[in-house]
Order: sequence, then C-alpha cells, then structure tokens
Amino acid sequence: MTTQWDISDRARAVHGRSLVWDAHACLPLVPGTSMEALERHRQAGVSFVSVNVGMDMNPLAQVMRVIAGFRAWLAEHGDRFLLAGSLADVERAKREGKLAVAFDLEGSVMLEDDPAMVRLYRDLGVRGGCHGRDVPLTPLGRGVVAAINAAGLIMDCSHTGYRTSMEIMERSTKPVVFSHSNPRALKAHARNIADDQIDACARTGGVIAINGIGIFLGANDIRVETLLRHVDYVVGRVGAAHVGLGLDYMFGELSGDLPPGSRSEEWWPPGNEYDVEDLKVVPPESFPAITEGLLARNYSEDDVRAILGGNMARVAAASWL
Ligand SMILES: [Zn+2]
Repeated sequence: MTTQWDISDRARAVHGRSLVWDAHACLPLVPGTSMEALERHRQAGVSFVSVNVGMDMNPLAQVMRVIAGFRAWLAEHGDRFLLAGSLADVERAKREGKLAVAFDLEGSVMLEDDPAMVRLYRDLGVRGGCHGRDVPLTPLGRGVVAAINAAGLIMDCSHTGYRTSMEIMERSTKPVVFSHSNPRALKAHARNIADDQIDACARTGGVIAINGIGIFLGANDIRVETLLRHVDYVVGRVGAAHVGLGLDYMFGELSGDLPPGSRSEEWWPPGNEYDVEDLKVVPPESFPAITEGLLARNYSEDDVRAILGGNMARVAAASWL
C-alpha cells in the first residue's frame, strides 16, 4: 500500500495505525459491476467499507444478482480485498493491507414482508440495514427490528423518518447507528437529523457517521473543514465516542442504475437540491486529510482513532455475531 498521503508525519503515523471505517459507499447497482473503484479506499488507508447492495426501488432479482456479482468479484480479488463477516476479519484485513468489505441494505422492500429474510441477507454478507418511511412501527416493523438484532446486523436509521427512528432507538436491544447522516442544526435538509435523534442514538451506545454529500454538509460544500464542523457539532453534543464517518461516496452517476420504469423524482424529491449542478461528495482520498484535520483541531489521538473507526468497530462488536 502506498503511504504517499500529503499530510504531516504525525498524522500519517496516526492514520496508518488506525482502523479507518467508512460506514457507507455506493457502487452502481448493476449486476456484474467491478468493485475495482474501491482500490481508492484501500489506497487512502481505509480498513473497512460498507457497500450498498440494494434500496427500496431495486427489485429483489436485481439485489440478489448485485450481491452475487460482488461476492464473486471479491472472491477473485482476495489479494487486496476481503469479504468481512466478523470484526476479526476486519482486523486481519488491516494487518494484511487489504480492504475489508461488507454489504448494507437501504429500506425494507427487499425483505418481502418476511423478517426471516434478514438472516438470509446476513448469510450473504449483509452486515447493516435500515428501514424507510416515517410511520409508527407496525407489528411487521417491530418484527424486523427484532430480526435485525437477532441476526447480528447493525441497526441503521440513516434512511428512516423521524418518528420511526425514535421508536427503533427505543426498541433496539443493540446500539443503533446513523451510517450516513448529518446534524440538521448545521444544514437544514430533510436527510439530516434533529438533535434529539442524535441524543437518542448516543443513548443506545451508537454512532452518528458523518455524510460527505455536499448538499447535506452545506451549499454543495465538500471541504474537509466543513465536514469537520459537522464532526465537532456532534462531538460537542454527545461526545467523541458517538461519531464516525460514512462518506456515502458514489462511484458512478446518482440514479444511473435506476430500474426501468422508476422515476428519480420519487426517490430524490424535487426541492431538496438533488438537482444541483455537479452534486459533489467528499472523495475517499480525503480520509488522510480528515485524520490530519482532527489532530489539528486538538482531538486526542484516542478520540481521532475512535472517530475514524474505533466507534463503529465497537458497534460492530456489539452487533455482529
Ligand atoms: Zn443513503
């Protein structure tokens, strides 16, 4: 692995010994897609990345074929990548200079109203998942929360409406994360979360992983300084033990992989800046600069390492079987 990161010697040393955890990234949901783009994460010193394998608009057959293709690709590229089923796998990948990868699901349509599907997805490599919609939890929803806890997936409220997320955080027996969500106090956007959601997440022992999409950070603003302001805000509110990173980097076009017949306006509603010209996302190459920026803001090395990945590793240890 190269260590040609353009940062201070101290930051390079801290970055190199940290478990760096990207809680969410997106590759095109096209069966057979290469995952080679994730080499950018590996080169940036990232230890683990959670890759989306399906959202509510993706038919079950597409989700299954995407998972099948990713699993086949990872098996063929074991010299640099590893499909992680446990925290021990993530730690082994780091020791061997490999990037550990697991999958996540956004939404619940792919469960076909059957909580038993959760364990099947776990067996296929999924390690995190979340609901959609903002409604009180139905009996089925409660069953899904219990199934996620029982199957050893990380309970993720990033794509969950306010009321649903508050009920899930009440009910979950394991720590709950927002794998890619930012404080609404710094940027008023429907995808960002309120202070009491941040507080409730921390009470579960969970983590708010800061999203790198420019319109969730500011005015399509992807400066590391801006991202660090979001980190500072959440640390100030609930402490460094409850902050992480989920850059949500999209390799490929937003909505370029929408199934035929679906309309992007349904999934990215107008009036939320999704139509901004040249939507920007903090790229994976920024991870070393994030480490340097945290140190420059006088976070202790322990806190920097916790924010970079230690906190998410703690949640994984509590959740994964
Ligand atoms: Zn998302």
